[in-house]
Amino acid sequence: RREERSVTQNGFRADEIDTSRPHPARIYDYLLGGKDNYQVDREAGEQLIGVAPEARIGVQANRAFLQRAVRHVVGAGVRQILDIGTGLPTSPNVHEIARAVSPDVRIAYVDNDPIVNTHAATLMSEAGTTSVVLADLRDPQAILDHPDVHRVIDFDQPVALLLVAILHFVTEAEQPGRIVATLRDALPAGSHLVLSHATSDFADRRETVTAYSNATASMNLRDRAEIERFFDGFELIEPGVAQVPFWRPDSEPTREEREIGFYGGVAVKR
Ligand code: SAH
Repeated sequence: RREERSVTQNGFRADEIDTSRPHPARIYDYLLGGKDNYQVDREAGEQLIGVAPEARIGVQANRAFLQRAVRHVVGAGVRQILDIGTGLPTSPNVHEIARAVSPDVRIAYVDNDPIVNTHAATLMSEAGTTSVVLADLRDPQAILDHPDVHRVIDFDQPVALLLVAILHFVTEAEQPGRIVATLRDALPAGSHLVLSHATSDFADRRETVTAYSNATASMNLRDRAEIERFFDGFELIEPGVAQVPFWRPDSEPTREEREIGFYGGVAVKR
């Protein structure tokens, strides 16, 4: 019997892995070379690669951006991370990246895919310093009010809000700008926003949308101006919103990386 409270927005139970439709977390895991994906996800992933041949290096470059950005915010003194759209565990995970810089960082991982929760043990390192929460970005207030978020995040101290490769799963009708503003308004001065987002600005990748047509979330590509608007109320740090391989790169981006359809940026709330 399905109980109302355990049914997610996608219509399947929180303890049930739905293998009938591709899921964004599992497609992403497939592109990264992970093992936590099913036939439907691999087919959607291959369809994506068919229209965006750089998709694999794209997710790797997005992940590398995430690493540089997390090292930056922890280096800037932030000790709490709210990571919404965590994805499946991969190496290194956000808590590992952060704690390599400073071991006292606390992390709340939030995702709406129950498969992420099945890996909670991997994501929860030491008790009391990490939590894994099943919640939906489209209900930001529920995230802000969630007891397991509050267990590790003190909203009176600066927070790094991670919205990395997630907002393109939110449609215009779902008002992504309002969602980001709700989260921003709950954060004190000194908080950071780390955001990346899929785009068709560097190569025409509008067809990638079709790879998600049967998936549990749609792909919503946005251009630079639309993505910059998500940073309203924050001050972007150098170099602003950039194609991810060009955001404070550790080494010179390669030729193939110039096609990558992800923007990224980091900003501070003053
Ligand atoms: N942030 C990670 C993973 C990105 S994959 C990285 O950049 O490497 C996108 C993740 O967002 C998936 O795990 C997917 O399940 C999650 N997601 C998509 N829509 C969501 C929503 N509305 N609420 C919460 N999580 C969502």
